[in-house]
Amino acid sequence: MGTRFRYVADDALRAENPDWYPECHVCDAVGTVYPMRATVRLGDGQTEDISAVCESCLNTGINIEYEFNFKENVLKYFKRDSSNEDPKTLMLQALERLAHNPRPAKCVQGFDWPLCCNDFCEFLGSPANAEAYEAFRIDARFWVGGPAGKHLSRNFLVEGPPELWTEVSFFRCSHCGKKHYIDQYT
Ligand SMILES: [Zn+2]
Ligand SMILES: [Zn+2]
Repeated sequence: MGTRFRYVADDALRAENPDWYPECHVCDAVGTVYPMRATVRLGDGQTEDISAVCESCLNTGINIEYEFNFKENVLKYFKRDSSNEDPKTLMLQALERLAHNPRPAKCVQGFDWPLCCNDFCEFLGSPANAEAYEAFRIDARFWVGGPAGKHLSRNFLVEGPPELWTEVSFFRCSHCGKKHYIDQYT
């Protein structure tokens, strides 16, 4: 688990380039901001699409409007736990925790974040090359809004490298250690 952000490993945490993102899109404070492509509901009740957010806003928690079927999708992967808590309550608690994290994974096809053991996984970064990708995915689960067949993901050793390695995002479950990856490209 990350020490700054629960679902982002410390060494995978990257601030945005200040030339592109000089200020927080929620509070407008000038300073270090992190990637956060999301629709949020601001204090005045209006929704706004934002791209960058400061640590202070993340720590306070931001009011995210999730994409149309994201909640319905992830709810399927929550199971009643040992405390016999309702899966929907567990999901809402996990979403509340997730709202305190930046979104470093590139999700050009729509927001996604792997789930395991009733919790969101920790983002670990992207592969540096095809060998690193193959080494990771050998015992990892491919995730497309849910577990998906690995044959549906790309094989860069055969196809050649992607346009950007950040199209691939690696994750790990902080509870069982299981690895997961997503691959989103245009
Ligand atoms: Zn802010
Ligand atoms: Zn797990």
